[in-house]
Amino acid sequence: MDTTAGTLVKYKMVIDGEWVDSASSQHFESFDPFTGKPWALIPRGNAEDVDRAARAARKAFTSGEWPKMTASRRGALLRKLGDLITEKSKALAEIEVRDNGKLYAEMSAQTAYMAQWYYYYGGLADKIEGQVIPIDKPDTFNYTRFEPLGVVGAIIPWNSPLLLTAWKLAPALAAGNVMVLKPSEYTSASLLEFMKLIEEAGFPPGVVNVVTGFGPEAGTPLVEHPLVAKIAFTGSDLTGQKIYEAAAKGLKKVSMELGGKSPNIVFDDAEIDNAVKGAISGIFAATGQTCIAGSRLLVQESIHDQFVEKLVAFAKTAKMGNPMSMETQVGPVTNQPQYKKILSYIDIAKAEGVTTALGGAKATRPECGDGWFVEPTIFTGVKNSMRIAQEEVFGPVLSVIPFKDEEEAIAIGNDVVFGLAAGVWTQNMRRAFLMAEKLQAGTVWVNTYRAVSYLSPFGGYKRSGLGRESGQEMIKEYLQTKSVWISTAREVPNPFIMR
Ligand code: ADP
Repeated sequence: MDTTAGTLVKYKMVIDGEWVDSASSQHFESFDPFTGKPWALIPRGNAEDVDRAARAARKAFTSGEWPKMTASRRGALLRKLGDLITEKSKALAEIEVRDNGKLYAEMSAQTAYMAQWYYYYGGLADKIEGQVIPIDKPDTFNYTRFEPLGVVGAIIPWNSPLLLTAWKLAPALAAGNVMVLKPSEYTSASLLEFMKLIEEAGFPPGVVNVVTGFGPEAGTPLVEHPLVAKIAFTGSDLTGQKIYEAAAKGLKKVSMELGGKSPNIVFDDAEIDNAVKGAISGIFAATGQTCIAGSRLLVQESIHDQFVEKLVAFAKTAKMGNPMSMETQVGPVTNQPQYKKILSYIDIAKAEGVTTALGGAKATRPECGDGWFVEPTIFTGVKNSMRIAQEEVFGPVLSVIPFKDEEEAIAIGNDVVFGLAAGVWTQNMRRAFLMAEKLQAGTVWVNTYRAVSYLSPFGGYKRSGLGRESGQEMIKEYLQTKSVWISTAREVPNPFIMR
């Protein structure tokens, strides 16, 4: 499947159950963020490959085994895939660490947990029930069916490639769809390794296809392809907007999970040590490269200085270095453009007049070698109107903003274009419920941060997205409802009257 070209691992992509090169026969390099050096070659897919994949998927949707398969059987295949993921979770985690720079400590837990989406939606596959409607017309039987959409295109970002694939693939397949997946050009390898498990689980050829390549060359043709019925996307809001516009031309369905600038709000009645840990995990876990990063830390004025002191002291202890080491707590940035972007936001913040309480530069610690590391950074004296507080940095950069009372915390918390998540730290129950109600975010955590589950819906308010992922309801995002009318009347009545 993968051969070695020099020292680089050469990958193929998967179309119609075959491991293939791209139509152009070109490849591009994938980098190890810890060494800053290329380690793999990925096929450079284009519109021709997308067309082959979309046709293969459509064929698998309309003929062969897949459309004949019962929902129970589809569920069994998904559960088998879950078992294979559980078995191979460590190997999958190693690939993600190499390609993405995420910590092995986090990835080994994440790849193991990822199996739950396949178990859950595998279980749900045969529980999608239509209704018989007690219709208000004589001699008429009316019922609903939930039917798959057909070919679903999924466009995946680089920050959690396999997990974010699972959030789309598991419900889409459970609902009976077929898929063309386009991973990020920065992190394609783990999905290609994962395709071996799809093959082993026994999904018919063409049900899951992968076209690797760049956004404009492989992503855009997927969005525009006439056989693609829906696009499921996770990524930045600006790319989401472009995809939404392109999908609108074909009146395609879309679901999108986009960026965030989430407030993590600490009241003076919080358990301070817990809130410090929550603030740290909110911004430094995954090197801040998560859409749910609690990148705006709102701290009540009365405890501001004391809280910042504890926060800085804790953040200073973060160990950086080889992401494969279980000791490492903050890993490298996944790709070079992102590394440069984070450093440029640090400059922007400084020019805006913030105070650097910690970090504020690239990391030059010996254990970081030539990798793309940024020091955990904490800025104080941030005003919510500053660019550093309004724009998504996607890195280990925290902006601390003081507030007076609940009202001001809500006003500042909601004063961004995004609405993906929010955290609240308080021991006051009334306050917890009030904040949960008033914060405009798809997820609100109280006295915890970064919790996600296959059981609970996840998605954004405002510019953070359209639709939800995970939980029972969201399978409907991959289904369409058909209303069926059957007349039992002996005679067709007057044709000029609508009934
Ligand atoms: P980030 O790298 O910040 O997550 P993007 O949102 O740009 O950035 O990327 C997410 C995914 O969207 C990647 O798979 C990327 O290749 C893809 N992509 C980027 N631009 C486009 C586009 N114009 N059309 C379709 N897909 C795109």
